Amino acid sequence: MRDNIDGHFLLIGLMAYPIRHSLSPQMQNTIYSKLNVPYVYLAFEVDQEKLPDAIKGLRALGLRGSAVSMPNKQLVCQYLDKLTPAVEMSGACNTISNDNGVLTGYNTDGIGYMRMLKEAGVDVIGKKMTIMGAGGAATAIVVQAALDGVKEIAIFNQKDECYQKIEAVAKKLNQNTQCKVYVTDLDDKEQLRKEIAESVVLCNATGVGMKPLEGQSLITDPTMLRADLVVTDCIYSPRKTKLLEIAEQQGCKILNGIGMMLWQGAAQIKIWTGEEAPIEYVKEKMR
Ligand code: NAD
Repeated sequence: MRDNIDGHFLLIGLMAYPIRHSLSPQMQNTIYSKLNVPYVYLAFEVDQEKLPDAIKGLRALGLRGSAVSMPNKQLVCQYLDKLTPAVEMSGACNTISNDNGVLTGYNTDGIGYMRMLKEAGVDVIGKKMTIMGAGGAATAIVVQAALDGVKEIAIFNQKDECYQKIEAVAKKLNQNTQCKVYVTDLDDKEQLRKEIAESVVLCNATGVGMKPLEGQSLITDPTMLRADLVVTDCIYSPRKTKLLEIAEQQGCKILNGIGMMLWQGAAQIKIWTGEEAPIEYVKEKMR
């Protein structure tokens, strides 16, 4: 692939710290090769201190865009020219598009989750979902779900620093969308049972189920899950978390975090290159 890089190729970055472990460069470059499009994707170690200069550099060098990850997802918003409604509401951006010098901030995590549901034939529009978690992943999902037309979202989280933040996001969504969003303490298991019973989708967007909490599940009583509930987990390693195991035994349709990850990457590729990502090919590569 490197042999054919000529003067017309455009650079797409990934700005985060730490970042050397990321699988994104390999995944993105494999897709560009497959699509035969003139882009190269490189990871740059950019922390919060370096971020302002990195954005100036992106503009000066004319990068096509950049992915943004921790610790820059919130901070980067102030350096961009335009933000999508999802970024305005969530306060977090994971994708920059540079269109002739105008930088637009997107958040493709929520887009990826909603696309994953759609591709799996799950219709949650106009219906209710329950989500456990209030961090970056949960916020992106809740915001996109509300913007896409989910009718009601019950959020459960432990009373940590994320709780207050998602309460503020819920308030914005209640004021600016048709969706009814409310936040409850995760300790209130009876309320959790009630909300799940009224939902078509349950989502785990906490780290419970992956290392160091692998083998654990926030739902331990299988009777909280019924067979026609769709249970999703943002976690992709392991592929089947304890929650998904319990849900599968109850006869639920289960979806792990791979779909969300692939479709959020596909949304980035669409933004940067205008192309549809070859998802089946990528899935095969990721086995
Ligand atoms: P985060 O640190 O922003 O949020 C962590 C969340 O987990 C918070 O809501 C926190 O309250 C909750 N939590 C942590 N420990 C808990 C415990 N012991 N009991 C109950 N709740 C607990 O992290 P994030 O970026 O939102 O990521 C959350 C999960 O989603 C991770 O597993 C991550 O790997 C996954 N994720 C997947 C994708 C994807 O594309 N599939 C994308 C982003 C994140």
